[in-house]
Amino acid sequence: MRIELDIKLGFKNVMIRPKRSTLKSRADVSLERTFKFLHAKKGWTGIPVMAANMDTTGTFEMATALAEHKMFTAIHKHYSIEQWKAFLDAAEESITEHIAVSTGTGSADMEKLNELMNQFPQLRFICIDVANGYSEHFVKFVKKVREKYPDKVIIAGNVVTGEMVEELLLAGADIIKVGIGPGSVCTTRLKTGVGFPQLSAIIECADAAHGLGGQIISDGGCKSPGDVAKAFGGGADFVMLGGMFSGHKESGGELVEEDGEKFKTFYGMSSETAMEKYSGGVAEYRASEGKTVKVPYRGPVEDTVQDILGGVRSTCTYVGAKKLKELTKRTTFIRVQEQLNEMFS
Ligand code: 5GP
Repeated sequence: MRIELDIKLGFKNVMIRPKRSTLKSRADVSLERTFKFLHAKKGWTGIPVMAANMDTTGTFEMATALAEHKMFTAIHKHYSIEQWKAFLDAAEESITEHIAVSTGTGSADMEKLNELMNQFPQLRFICIDVANGYSEHFVKFVKKVREKYPDKVIIAGNVVTGEMVEELLLAGADIIKVGIGPGSVCTTRLKTGVGFPQLSAIIECADAAHGLGGQIISDGGCKSPGDVAKAFGGGADFVMLGGMFSGHKESGGELVEEDGEKFKTFYGMSSETAMEKYSGGVAEYRASEGKTVKVPYRGPVEDTVQDILGGVRSTCTYVGAKKLKELTKRTTFIRVQEQLNEMFS
């Protein structure tokens, strides 16, 4: 047994130190980024905030709304080929720049992925997503997908440490998804004791990825626009959100009304709710590692988008970053013991 004694931090343990700035207003800040990828040939330009590939947030409706802002949606893996066809037929051509196809690593997953890519070769992004990205099987699967699809952008995860980021990039991934246990409806840390504070995971993994010419997505744990800004400040190239995009018109989940108030259900993808929906109950060998919650209904996602982008723009003005790309360079975190004044919350 070994203990690492240097402290690892989450979003709530830090704030961003304000810096002298020549920017006049947050309207002067550009949140667009352009990336070249390690393996895939064609690059990407857009606002690197994305909806999680959960069936409650990675919906076609969400993708349509977010693409208006050049934001991204990792579409969940439970849509049928027919549903994909109907969506792509009706959507604008540029939508393929702003969505990823998600897949697990089973043989049925591979078959479905192949079918989708054959039928819709315009799809450019493949998100290979497992709860624990540390297995040999996962690395082999990433290699297989890279061999078969040399031109596609491959997202792979989830991991939280530098050496695994490197291994997955070398196996063929372009972008690594980072986060184990920080999610709003995740119970992994409770059930297994495993995890890594998200901000420190970002800092470590961004350093490993950028050294090799790859990118990372910070996945999970953001509760506010300030947390999104901290994730970018720590070095995340993309930030993926579940809870912050839940409860909207474009979100999945059941709309329920109680005492005149509307709610939408939101649940983890390995919660009992999701497992019952897709695999006929919780498999005996694994604990359910997600929970189900009711979120107050928030209407169209547009207001939330404005709130997030406005917040991050404002962060950039506080530290003098004219572009989102400069935010990490201009970020100094200060460790804190307090965050918000909770007098009226
Ligand atoms: P949030 O933005 O809600 O904090 O985090 C979203 C992320 O939580 C997802 O992108 C995914 O990585 C993770 N997640 C979603 N469902 C589950 C689940 O059932 N269990 C675990 N451990 N993580 C989940």
